[in-house]
Amino acid sequence: MSIAPLSSESKSDWKRQVQDAIRDPETLFRRLQLPMTELAKATAAARDFPVFAPESYVARMESGNVSDPLLRQVLPVENELESPAGFSLDPVGDQLSKQQPGLIQKYRGRVLLITTGMCAIHCRYCFRRHYAYDEEPKSSEQWEPAVRHIENDKSLQEVILSGGDPLSLSDGRLSTLLHRLGQAKHLRRIRVHTRLPIVIPDRVTEDLIEWLTSTNMIPYLVLHANHANELSNEVVAKVDLLRRAGIILLNQAVLLRGVNDSVDAMAELCEKLSNIGVLPYYLNQLDRVKGAAHFEVPVETGKQLIRELQTRLPGYAVPRFVQEIAGAEHKVTL
Ligand SMILES: *Cc1c(COP(=O)(O)O)cnc(C)c1O
Ligand code: SF4
Repeated sequence: MSIAPLSSESKSDWKRQVQDAIRDPETLFRRLQLPMTELAKATAAARDFPVFAPESYVARMESGNVSDPLLRQVLPVENELESPAGFSLDPVGDQLSKQQPGLIQKYRGRVLLITTGMCAIHCRYCFRRHYAYDEEPKSSEQWEPAVRHIENDKSLQEVILSGGDPLSLSDGRLSTLLHRLGQAKHLRRIRVHTRLPIVIPDRVTEDLIEWLTSTNMIPYLVLHANHANELSNEVVAKVDLLRRAGIILLNQAVLLRGVNDSVDAMAELCEKLSNIGVLPYYLNQLDRVKGAAHFEVPVETGKQLIRELQTRLPGYAVPRFVQEIAGAEHKVTL
């Protein structure tokens, strides 16, 4: 299969884009001409979980619009400092399901690796915003127990690379990991959960496509877009490359108040995804993590939204509305 060559510049350019990302509220406010009267509150809210947004993502926002659906995902707000009952530091029970350092298993036949704590963006609603990434493996020696666990457990058919964002790691590291996993004959599928191709489309390099498609495992890439405005022309072009390389593309979104909690917004997202060959897989009910309560949409509203989507779109374009319940044997359909 031939893939259009990428310029050598765009190959490592994504790392520079991560480095140059906006990392403080004031820069974000100036860049988007937001009302400075709100800056002190944003600064207070950013203390625990800093602002982090690369220009490639910020460029898709509308200047001066505090309600912009992409801005809302990265802008710290005063509400984050509230801590209503029911919102916790580890809402989905990750720590209880850890089998080895960096390895979480909750469901049959598949395990999830916390490959890194790094992301290319800080999403204010992130359920792992308080995750103790420092305790997870960094070096290949530290990864050995997790990898050996996978090699020895013949009931596993799938490994999911998660994080953080696994594509924050270099192609060299990911390539080494994948080729090691590819030796285990019981593994049939490799799945990567990532927001990077959406946030910094230049992350989709020739090398990435190479390591992801060169083992015997069937490659799945689960993107994370929440709004149609995230699907810029650059994103669409890179999605096309991934799709032509034979990678199965899915999307998961989180139902977020003021971002995508309307039928029009959700229909536009799902339609656009379907038009570029990405199946809307899950719509996640917000995980009740401390600091994100203001994003919560009532489950009933989400169900109604799905019912209306069904009247507008083909069945495959309607995502499954799910919630992760700590201790459950699968994601629970609502
Ligand atoms: C969400 C999740 C998965 C993936 O679930 P699917 O229903 O297969 O998409 C797997 N492992 C863990 C630990 C998860 O949290
Ligand atoms: S990219 Fe994913 S893991 Fe990273 S902050 Fe956003 S939601 Fe959380």
